[in-house]
Amino acid sequence: MKKIPVGVLGATGSVGQKFIQLLNGHPYFELTEIAASEKSAGRIYGEHVNWFLDGHIPSVARKMKIKTCEPGLDCHLVFSGLDARIAGETESAFAKAGYIVVSNSRNHRYDPDVPLLVPEINPEHLELLKIQKYGSGKIITNPNCSTIGLVLALKPLIDRFGLKSVNVVTMQALSGAGFPGLSGLSVLENVVPHIGGEEEKMEKEPLKILGNFVGNRIDPLDLLISAQCNRVPVIDGHTESVQVALKEKVSHEKIIESWRAFRGKPQTLKLPFAPEQPIYYFDRPDYPQPRLHRLIDKGMAVSIGNLRPCPIFDYKFTVLAHNTIRGAAGGAILCAELLKAGGWLD
Ligand code: NAP
Repeated sequence: MKKIPVGVLGATGSVGQKFIQLLNGHPYFELTEIAASEKSAGRIYGEHVNWFLDGHIPSVARKMKIKTCEPGLDCHLVFSGLDARIAGETESAFAKAGYIVVSNSRNHRYDPDVPLLVPEINPEHLELLKIQKYGSGKIITNPNCSTIGLVLALKPLIDRFGLKSVNVVTMQALSGAGFPGLSGLSVLENVVPHIGGEEEKMEKEPLKILGNFVGNRIDPLDLLISAQCNRVPVIDGHTESVQVALKEKVSHEKIIESWRAFRGKPQTLKLPFAPEQPIYYFDRPDYPQPRLHRLIDKGMAVSIGNLRPCPIFDYKFTVLAHNTIRGAAGGAILCAELLKAGGWLD
């Protein structure tokens, strides 16, 4: 099969580096372009990037020249890991120039004609692309890194039992703040109880993702969510303490069974980045833990544990997802694989 040429916008950042790492050897996509800001443009990636991921820089990227984030790149699809201050305009410019843009940034997530896609949850939202205003170019967005674990945990509960309300408290990893991120002095031996804009995203994004596609728009799900977000000294992996009130009285066993049985379109289609099982439930009450479980199924699965009754809501439990893999680059690559399977990249 001839591979589809792809570029990475924001290739020097936390998410961008993860894209470069995960695209290496991908069966559908071939990295042909790397782009970042003016200060990086013109430099050789392997000489310029402050690579902070495990292992070497993939050889295909090492000698590539970094370009500016402007249309004219030799590829069909671009993955965007751009700083939100410039992502909106830049991604629109690429879509208008005919590129397929798969973005991790917040800027286009609430555009009414842009899918906010989690391939296991709302693949039908891709139909919005038929009414998008960019001609042959398209924009598809990936949710926020803390939203992804939450919505994957909630989806089986909504489908099987109905959901009235959700309270979530996050413990979010440092890599979620980008590179170089927060200083050691501000995070070591510490918890920072504020992440700008994060609580609003967690309370709003699930409503679109879990909403119904009704012909030419998404009707948001009617659900009350309260989120509190904290930055903790963990490198990768966002942990979330979740409380839920359900519409139906349901047993502990049935909830766990709903998570373990959950599968989506990526699993049916056997897409390369699809986790075999999107949700792993642990019977041990002290699991999941970021250092131990963030890389389950190549970092694409969500882990859940410690389901127990809640005296205020009905149940409470713990969720863990890898923020730069499932919550960013890996999730975006899975979106692109779904686009390919649906013929959107032809
Ligand atoms: P980051 O480490 O700060 O990287 C930002 C990237 O944007 C760098 O490659 C930077 O290039 C580039 N950039 C900055 N200003 C630019 C400009 N004026 N023109 C062109 N390129 C520019 O940020 P990140 O954590 O990777 O996050 C990237 C995006 O993904 C953000 O919108 C973030 O909210 C979102 N996101 C992040 C995560 C996560 O876990 N980190 C998860 C989900 C979503 P230079 O190096 O050349 O400046």
